[in-house]
Amino acid sequence: MTTITNHMPTKELQALDAAHHMHPFTEDAALAKKGARIITRGKGVFLTDSEGNEILDGMAGLWCVNLGYGRKELAEVAARQMEELCYYNTFFQTSHVPAIALAAKIAELAPGDLNHVFYAGSGSEANDTNIRLVRRYWDVKGKPEKNIIISRKNAYHGSTMGGASLGGMSGMHAQGGLPIPNIAHINQPHWYAEGGDMTPEEFGLARARELEAKIEELGADRVAAFIGEPIQGAGGVIVPPSTYWPEIQRICDKYGILLIADEVITGFGRTGNWFGSQTMGIKPHIMTIAKGLSSGYAPIGGSIICDEVYNTVAGSGDDFNHGYTYSGHPVASAVALRNLEMLEEENVLDHVRNVAHPYLMERWQGLTDHPLVGEAKLVGLMGSIALTPNKETRAKFASDAGTVGYMTRERCFANNLVMRHVGDRMIISPPLVIKPSEIDILIERATRSLDEAYAKIKAEGLL
Ligand code: PMP
Repeated sequence: MTTITNHMPTKELQALDAAHHMHPFTEDAALAKKGARIITRGKGVFLTDSEGNEILDGMAGLWCVNLGYGRKELAEVAARQMEELCYYNTFFQTSHVPAIALAAKIAELAPGDLNHVFYAGSGSEANDTNIRLVRRYWDVKGKPEKNIIISRKNAYHGSTMGGASLGGMSGMHAQGGLPIPNIAHINQPHWYAEGGDMTPEEFGLARARELEAKIEELGADRVAAFIGEPIQGAGGVIVPPSTYWPEIQRICDKYGILLIADEVITGFGRTGNWFGSQTMGIKPHIMTIAKGLSSGYAPIGGSIICDEVYNTVAGSGDDFNHGYTYSGHPVASAVALRNLEMLEEENVLDHVRNVAHPYLMERWQGLTDHPLVGEAKLVGLMGSIALTPNKETRAKFASDAGTVGYMTRERCFANNLVMRHVGDRMIISPPLVIKPSEIDILIERATRSLDEAYAKIKAEGLL
């Protein structure tokens, strides 16, 4: 077989891709007809494809490449660690320096008494850990029946059986026999789409109080935990009204329910603080982490666990019968540690707070002048715009949800901008190191794409 390289013609790479590579979240037969875009290189906030196009990555990969592409220091750390100790497990009375050093660093950065790290290879795996961990916690406390976890519709917590069950994506629950037992879902705090005539503040309270109603319905002695993303990411970058999280916190405290913040996207600077929980003013017992932990340079995730939960499970007199071959993988841990150090050394959080966010906010808000854009939201560097045929009423399009969003995404793709759509919401999450001049390019390409999509939907009678 010939060696497959970046230098092969795009068509040949696409044919091989279609023949042998099944893609995540994809209708593969349809993709095979279109052909995948082949990404060959990355530098800073830009990607290059096999046709030589330079694409501005407004999503930092999948919300993860926070330090930007092509950082030599991270490649060097990985190479050094591979030579020194490529792998060892931490199961049987062994440990190693990368796992120890990274856990200590994470504990230093995490707020309050979130002092303990259980490693996973991804965010999904980490949420599977969380399901088993909170159930184990209550079991050790003598309350094995306290095993239901409450989440939200349209939440995203991963693709494993556990992660997808915690998540509230109806399309995922429709495939593969989900959710697993003892997971309950309440409605999401998505004011723009579901708030009707309520003010955002009233709506935030109403949606938070669904948690109280659900706990009352199930019985507090049956509910182990509530899980939520501080800001829903894959659901459409939905920023909850200001009243929402304080009320959720009050309810969790009142009923003795553990609070899990899924910080897979919001962790490590995305919202301008180390953790989204700090931005939203909540105090979780457990945080799920992944993505920005290593800026996507190595697959690694984990759970940051508070003293009380850790001490209970660690001191139970029995093993916690759970772990992954790659829990605390030395190479991934070494890369993640260097990534966190670089975030500090380069003052990336200050850059997000004082430079990139204010500049992007001004320009992002400017998009609401466009006839298609009903609202523009941005926290730190995660943002969304709502596409609507009527800004006054926040109406939905008559076409199937997502039709206009998909058309807009296609125009972005053609204009060398990666901006995702969730239904008819467009979302961004650029690398945290993005410069104002690059933000200008992002906005210029987004505006052109919106103009083209608008012309197309008018021509097709979709308005
Ligand atoms: N939780 C959240 C909030 C996420 O956004 C994601 C990934 N998009 C996950 C969990 C799952 O992480 P992974 O894809 O690494 O399994």
